[in-house]
Amino acid sequence: MSVSGTSAAGEKRLSGAAPARRPAPAFDAARAREDFPILRQRVHGRPLVYLDNAATTQKPRAVIDAISRYYEEDNANVHRGVHLLSERATRRHDEARKRVARFIGAPDPREVIFVRGTTEAVNLVAQTFGRTRVGAGDEVLVTELEHHSNIVPWQMLCHEKGARLRVVPVTDAGDLDLDALEALLGPRTRLLAVTQVSNALGTVNPLPEIIARAKARGVPVLVDGAQGAPHLGFDAAASGADFYAFSGHKLYGPTGVGVLWGRREHLEAMPPWQGGGDMILSVTFEKTIYNALPHKFEAGTPDIAGAIGLAAAIDYVDGLGLEAIAAHERELLALAVDALEAEEGVRLVGTPRERAGVVSFLVGDVHPHDVGTVLDRHGVAVRAGHHCAQPLMQRLGLAATARASFGLYNTPEDVDALVRGIRAVREMFA
Ligand code: PMP
Repeated sequence: MSVSGTSAAGEKRLSGAAPARRPAPAFDAARAREDFPILRQRVHGRPLVYLDNAATTQKPRAVIDAISRYYEEDNANVHRGVHLLSERATRRHDEARKRVARFIGAPDPREVIFVRGTTEAVNLVAQTFGRTRVGAGDEVLVTELEHHSNIVPWQMLCHEKGARLRVVPVTDAGDLDLDALEALLGPRTRLLAVTQVSNALGTVNPLPEIIARAKARGVPVLVDGAQGAPHLGFDAAASGADFYAFSGHKLYGPTGVGVLWGRREHLEAMPPWQGGGDMILSVTFEKTIYNALPHKFEAGTPDIAGAIGLAAAIDYVDGLGLEAIAAHERELLALAVDALEAEEGVRLVGTPRERAGVVSFLVGDVHPHDVGTVLDRHGVAVRAGHHCAQPLMQRLGLAATARASFGLYNTPEDVDALVRGIRAVREMFA
């Protein structure tokens, strides 16, 4: 599935203008909105318009209740107990893993490792797979679109090993330069780490093509799915990728839990990362025998409630239908892109061929932080800054942008509120 961006048709809608084209009737965002208690509040006396979903999404009642219910009814430590509560907690944790595996098309739930989030997943791969595979003079390939969490762990690894971090450039529009990718894939390339969707520009990378090119050279691929999982989903088995990482909190689940999926043969061959309880079969002072997958990579008490909350979030998203959510978000993005393009003094940052979830912009020469602050006074929550993508900002010659990012509960009225807020910014700084 892909989400088209600027080319998608969408009526221009400005406040007071003709009503916006409504999202496909299959998806009722206003109805879904009621599932999110936090969205009922007012901020600065205005209804909350939450457009910071790329940073974190809000949580539906179903997720909040699943977490509360776990603590009220089942809470115990997993794996170690023989008592009923521990058995229940263990079963629910195992079920959550299976739920995640189904969601991302992982052939085997043991390939699903629970971690804190995307950041931890990437670090795990860098410190295990990376450390054993990358040596002096080798190369690790990342792209200019990456979030810091898919740059810095590789930079640290390269520094430790005397290896070289190489970077696939982006075009001015914010698309990866695939010819440059081809040229950079060389005999010393040990891994390509690439995002599914850019959190700063919304670019949807053509993963099938990228992965095919890497695979043709025998280069393993790690996909950062932090922004892709909530908007596009992922099919691990079909993708050809070797690793996939995503965060629960950007998928309407809790913070503190995320997922690393890896191909079984890699995970089996990789040394453990952190040592401690649960990741062992037996320990003596002379020798430790490590546990089987997935436990080998899950030292210590896991975020049990987090995993259960994530499974509930996946159930919620699947219940609405990821396809229907994506179609709705595509409509909203088209509206937002058209509205912002038509708005005097507004400049879109990045016009990628395909876009999901995110639109970055500037308002005249007003500092994005001021844009964000004025929008906040109008009840509109956006992000302003470098979006943890400083190399990309440098490439684009910017220090920061304002970013509106959409989720399933956003509506055309939210786009109107954004436009009204931007007009207030212009008036204030005129
Ligand atoms: N990659 C991308 C593309 C992201 O957008 C983010 C979060 N902004 C991350 C990685 C890091 O995710 P987390 O902070 O949940 O580990």
